[in-house]
Amino acid sequence: MFGAPGSGKGTHGKALGAIPGFFHCACGDVFRSLRPETPLGKRFLEYSSRGQLVPDEATIELWRQCLDNSMKVGRFHPDADTLVLDGIPRNVAQSKILSDTLDVAAVFYLTTSKPEILVGRLQRRALKDNRLDDANLDVIRQRLKTYEKETKPVLNFYGKKLVHRINTDGAPVEIFSDILKQVVKLR
Ligand code: ADP
Repeated sequence: MFGAPGSGKGTHGKALGAIPGFFHCACGDVFRSLRPETPLGKRFLEYSSRGQLVPDEATIELWRQCLDNSMKVGRFHPDADTLVLDGIPRNVAQSKILSDTLDVAAVFYLTTSKPEILVGRLQRRALKDNRLDDANLDVIRQRLKTYEKETKPVLNFYGKKLVHRINTDGAPVEIFSDILKQVVKLR
């Protein structure tokens, strides 16, 4: 799942992950599950509160640990399941590090003709999900800048063949239906 902060990656990633044979892993959720007093928990807060990405090495290591644990407890079966990634890889360096690990079937690029609605959506999410990084307008603007500068080049890394644009101007049920149609075609 690929798109700007607030584009709906988490919502649709979660919905896809609820279908048997799919496993959803959101990198931001993994970071938020860390206790804030741990060294990596502190580091996460330091970067995310400024709208910046956490350094690649720490991110990839945490992500690998999380997937390993999910495999150990039998929640994720890499031979049988499709992994639905959301929030990772988030820059070209991460895409390169993960190129030996991932066999990318598709990138769903959630787009909108009204990018101005993203800010309001993030501000509402701050209240609902108690997210500090969404509470401050300057941080939101910085996150959107980080997305444009560091994350968007990931689309070119994977190339046109893998990238499926999903227009998110409609209702969530229509957007999810579009994603599912593409998923079915890929099988
Ligand atoms: P968003 O809704 O903005 O996409 P996420 O929940 O995915 O937010 O991520 C929240 C924050 O966690 C990011 O702003 C960043 O600081 C950190 N983060 C999440 N995923 C990554 C990643 N792959 N690499 C570096 N930092 C990350």
